[in-house]
Amino acid sequence: MKILVQKFGGTSVATPESRLAAVRHIERAREEGYAVVVVVSAMGRKGDPYATDTLLSLFQVDDAQRPLAARDRDLLMACGETISAVVFANMLRNRGHKVQVMTGAQAGILTNDDFGNARILDIRPDRILTALGDDQIVVVMGFQGANEAGEITTLGRGGSDTTATALGVALEADAVDIFTDVSGIMTADPRLVDDARQLSQVTYTEICNLAYQGAKVIHPRAVEIAMQRNIPIRVRSTHSDDPGTLVTQAPPQLEHGALFDRFVTGIAHSANLTQIRLSGHGIGTSSIFTLMAEHDISVDFISVTPFEVAFTVGDDVAEIATQKLQELGYTPEVRRGCAKVSVVGAGIMGVPGIMAKIVEALAVEGIDILQSADSHTTIWVLVDGEHMGPAVRALHRAFQLAGNVA
Ligand code: ASP
Ligand code: MG
Repeated sequence: MKILVQKFGGTSVATPESRLAAVRHIERAREEGYAVVVVVSAMGRKGDPYATDTLLSLFQVDDAQRPLAARDRDLLMACGETISAVVFANMLRNRGHKVQVMTGAQAGILTNDDFGNARILDIRPDRILTALGDDQIVVVMGFQGANEAGEITTLGRGGSDTTATALGVALEADAVDIFTDVSGIMTADPRLVDDARQLSQVTYTEICNLAYQGAKVIHPRAVEIAMQRNIPIRVRSTHSDDPGTLVTQAPPQLEHGALFDRFVTGIAHSANLTQIRLSGHGIGTSSIFTLMAEHDISVDFISVTPFEVAFTVGDDVAEIATQKLQELGYTPEVRRGCAKVSVVGAGIMGVPGIMAKIVEALAVEGIDILQSADSHTTIWVLVDGEHMGPAVRALHRAFQLAGNVA
């Protein structure tokens, strides 16, 4: 049996028109001889009646209740995908298809007990396989699983992608299609960069790096799962027949047997960061980070020297972070509204001159680098929020991403 998993995100299932466009992709796959497993997200975005954020806005907790309430919160959030799947299946059925709708648990998704951010421990896809064997289309509620005790859990925000690739792995699918509202993976956000270009093929590593750095096309955890078994992913638009971007292990084949040597894949960005700096001799580095951890504040962009500690937190937690540091006797220098701009690639390591190119491209635009960091795949710079767009454009130009091969 040739199996295809097709996942449709919130905007792809938000209206009858978009659901019809989604159904056409499923029908096409069936014509091509695939058994199809559909995974849906909750319908629409924040403000739409059954979107995850809307459901969440109904739920108010005070801190003291949190561990108990997490279970109920998952029950509430899971409703978004439940509604979406039933509505979607209904449309398929009305067009004459045999359909079976399944909750995450019915689809065999077993998770740990970490409500709100559960990890998949195992998938027992027997029920799906039986239904597919009976020529049914299976519609699975994304984002949900259940623990050993049968309690409904959710997989963390954006978790429907994870449902899709995990099912792809469990079913040994030919591919997993991630349908969304963009036509594929781009070299930069087209809202910032006019000549951003769609990539026809990327590796798991490249897309993971882009996704971790703020490109919102696919959840990085979903990519990591597909990568374990080499299941190809296609990121594509619900509203077109464009094949989108193919994500695989191997780098793209170039014409004439040329070697693939793309070392920069794209420029990613993420906004709303606050830079916090503490200086002075013998700063209590470990007490600073312990304090942040105690208050569940995640820190990024950490730089430690004997004289200074600098890091970033989300703007939304900047106030509490500052307050807690002051209570410990520190006088943090706080800069809100910063943005992280990342040059992401698979082969940056060891390529001489990349940092020089970044520094020069930004200097020409009069953009100050507030902090920087690098790994073997990514170079990050922190800039003032108002410089985010110009920085992304300058780097996109500097690395000639509009005109490269592949
Ligand atoms: N509906 C869930 C969320 O908004 C899961 C998803 O869309 O992937 O996070
Ligand atoms: Mg999503």
